[in-house]
Amino acid sequence: MDYDRIIKVIDDNSEEFIDIASKMYEEPELAFNEVKACEWLVESLKKHGFDVEVGLYGMPTSIRATWGKGHPIIGVLAEYDCLPGLSQKQSTSFDPVIPGGPGQGCGHNLLGVATLAGAIAMKDDLEQNGLEGTVVFYGCPAEEVLTGKVFMAREGAFKELDMAIAYHPGAATTVSKGLSTGLNSAIFHFKGKTAHAGGNPWQGRSALDAAEIMSVGANYLREHIEDGIRIHYSYKEAGTAPNIVPDRASVWYYVRAFSRDKVEDTYKRLVKCAEGAAHMTETELEVEFLGGCYETMPNGVISEQIFKSMNEIPPTEWSDEEKAWADAINKNSHLFHGQETPSFTDKPRYRDENSSGSTDVGDVMHIVPTGMFNTTTANALCGSHTWMITCCAGNSIGFKGMLRGGKIMAATAAKFYRDPALVKAAQEEFKAAMTDKPYNCPIPKEVPIPQPTK
Ligand SMILES: [Zn+2]
Repeated sequence: MDYDRIIKVIDDNSEEFIDIASKMYEEPELAFNEVKACEWLVESLKKHGFDVEVGLYGMPTSIRATWGKGHPIIGVLAEYDCLPGLSQKQSTSFDPVIPGGPGQGCGHNLLGVATLAGAIAMKDDLEQNGLEGTVVFYGCPAEEVLTGKVFMAREGAFKELDMAIAYHPGAATTVSKGLSTGLNSAIFHFKGKTAHAGGNPWQGRSALDAAEIMSVGANYLREHIEDGIRIHYSYKEAGTAPNIVPDRASVWYYVRAFSRDKVEDTYKRLVKCAEGAAHMTETELEVEFLGGCYETMPNGVISEQIFKSMNEIPPTEWSDEEKAWADAINKNSHLFHGQETPSFTDKPRYRDENSSGSTDVGDVMHIVPTGMFNTTTANALCGSHTWMITCCAGNSIGFKGMLRGGKIMAATAAKFYRDPALVKAAQEEFKAAMTDKPYNCPIPKEVPIPQPTK
């Protein structure tokens, strides 16, 4: 089949898509606070004829929008939160709008809108061709803290689907085949007794000592864990002045591994380090479990169809001005060491290598067969979570990659809407991979869902 109609629908509405992505770039919102982004997406989904529900799953900024009837039910996963500290002007060197302010350093404005564009083109495809099938647009808050989709899953999302397609902006055009890590995230709070650190320190019990001793223990633990497992931390609270024995200290840990079993096992051992530290320092420990997510498990059948679509949808063409802009950013990249560098990397390829980063798409991948891909929305030497991603997420370089992402998504869905055998093959692969290990949500029922603070 040709994809002229899908391409036309997205190109005809491109002004609206770019407008929403631009607004999300200008007014970035942090995890669980994506109030405006949610409103803009909902407005567009309604305008394009979707049935829209907002604020399900205990999350005011979540969206579930549907169109169509019957099977296959194909879900697409939008994200729209930003990152702290990655504010950036339209400039080819690091130049924040607000120093230390938030910015679209993962390009989730492009992610949210590419998924919107994809869903609208999927709906048009079903409608124009009288096909049976349903599109479900999931608006997923708080990906940057890796728990949004996990809370949604805990509250019942995604299992209605036959399959899902996820998209992410990037510095290359790739289909995920390798894995990303699963994770647990927790803050360890220690409570001690304050005293004058010079005058009567024997009466104090330092919470900071406990936090430091915990981290000494965690750093010794590293020798006795398998390769590929990551433990990292930062201090949230560590006292106020040297002459006051700190009665409160908090340290925030991530544990990552390529399977939930390994995450859980290492996390339990880390908790023992915290308990031992509290015991040694006669302080009290409170563990605030923030959440966790699964490792990814890309579905091979869906990945193959995404890869085909990448080669069927015309590649992005950049102007000389955009290439010059990318070249200038490349020269200012931390990844530039004088090497010969193209402006952009756009040739579609499978990404076989594993990544020690994490994404909460991993949970969806363990609930329904899911494929995931990237398109080029930034210069070739653009590292993730950098000012470069933010910069390109606010100009034509990012917008072109975003529209291409929406087209690839809809072209992939079109193949599955027309071929039940393909859906069945994806599901069989999924069932085989999940044998004897049903999805078990990493966030227990009692962990509260963070609410918007604005
Ligand atoms: Zn991201």
